Amino acid sequence: SDHGRAINFGAGPSALPLSVLEETQTGLLNFEGTGMGIAEISHRSKEFQAFLDEFEHNIRTQLDVPPTHRILFTQGGGTGQFSAVVLNLLARYRLLHPQASAADTVLDYVVTGSWSKKAAEEARRLSGGVATVRTAVDARVYSKDGKSFDNIPPHAEFAFADDPALIYYCENETVDGVEFSHDLESPAAFPFHLLKQDRLVPLVADYSSSFMCRPIPRLADHAVIYAGAQKNIGPAGLTILIVREDCIVDVDAAAKLGAPPVPLTLSYKTLADSGSLYNTPSVLAIYMAGLVLRRMKQNGGLPFYEEVNRRKAKKLYAAIHEGEQKGVFRRKVQQGSESWMNAVFEVLGEGAEKNFLEGAEKQGMKGLKGHRSVGGIRVSLYNAITEQEADKLIAYMTQFIAEANN
Ligand code: PLP
Repeated sequence: SDHGRAINFGAGPSALPLSVLEETQTGLLNFEGTGMGIAEISHRSKEFQAFLDEFEHNIRTQLDVPPTHRILFTQGGGTGQFSAVVLNLLARYRLLHPQASAADTVLDYVVTGSWSKKAAEEARRLSGGVATVRTAVDARVYSKDGKSFDNIPPHAEFAFADDPALIYYCENETVDGVEFSHDLESPAAFPFHLLKQDRLVPLVADYSSSFMCRPIPRLADHAVIYAGAQKNIGPAGLTILIVREDCIVDVDAAAKLGAPPVPLTLSYKTLADSGSLYNTPSVLAIYMAGLVLRRMKQNGGLPFYEEVNRRKAKKLYAAIHEGEQKGVFRRKVQQGSESWMNAVFEVLGEGAEKNFLEGAEKQGMKGLKGHRSVGGIRVSLYNAITEQEADKLIAYMTQFIAEANN
């Protein structure tokens, strides 16, 4: 039975695999034969520890995370990391450059959408008097209307400081539907070639809405990669970090030198030294995400998901383009910068968007309304959306286009 479930194309929290939800029911009552439910058992029990170890191992092997990088689990979501990356990397920079002035302590933000813009705003809040936040590039300047986030800017426009405390980007902009290409030859790839090769670059990436949907290019060149779980791999409440060893620093020693103090729960060193168990973790969210990772491994790991996700996105964008040619839809993102995970478009004509959403809902397809800040339609194609489910939506779109042209 599918329990009367809709096909959920929402952007997050989003659909989870039915098999994982069913397994969770068992684990809620009796976790791995302990006689206690997962929400009831101690996070210090050997059974939970073993589960956590397997979860970490499944991330490490599937993403090919090198031994130079720790995998850490925390709470607070992507928004918590907007703050944590600033504080930890300012501490790192202070230890490397105890005498640096606020003007010399530069935080470089690549702004390609609403989430990276928010992250830069948080950096400004936290760094007053100790650091300077710069916009390394703002994609709105290169947009069609001069004000929207609809593109990955040309590489020649990225300007990084010589020795910044961090360089920040958001790999997939969930609201705007803009994503860096993973084809490193593409003009819409992240410009890794512009980074200084002679030192450990403090490159930070928000992978909240694209984590585990395909391999991460140049993973080893990143200082910090983070993701909230609630898109591709689990429920809200769990945040996953991949942190290079040199970014796990003594934040108290840095504070003595003038860096901002860091709350214990945000300090990467606290998390690393305690094996992500300094305080009670989000056990249920870890459990469900762990089940998703187990299932991914059984299905063939990231190569499998990458291929399915590639096909889903390709077919969906073909339908959007067909609708555009027939004057029914309008794409919002420039060619080459389109997201695999969140495709955005408009339905043209008075009342047409409402008709589109209602027609989809009649066929059991939900969660298609665009983010309230930008409107339009947004289709999220996270891992839990099967190719058949994507095909059903695409068939509906094709039919909608044909009927609109009658
Ligand atoms: N970054 C991205 C790319 C997101 O999509 C989101 C949430 O949708 C966030 C950050 C904020 O995450 P959270 O709601 O977990 O704080």
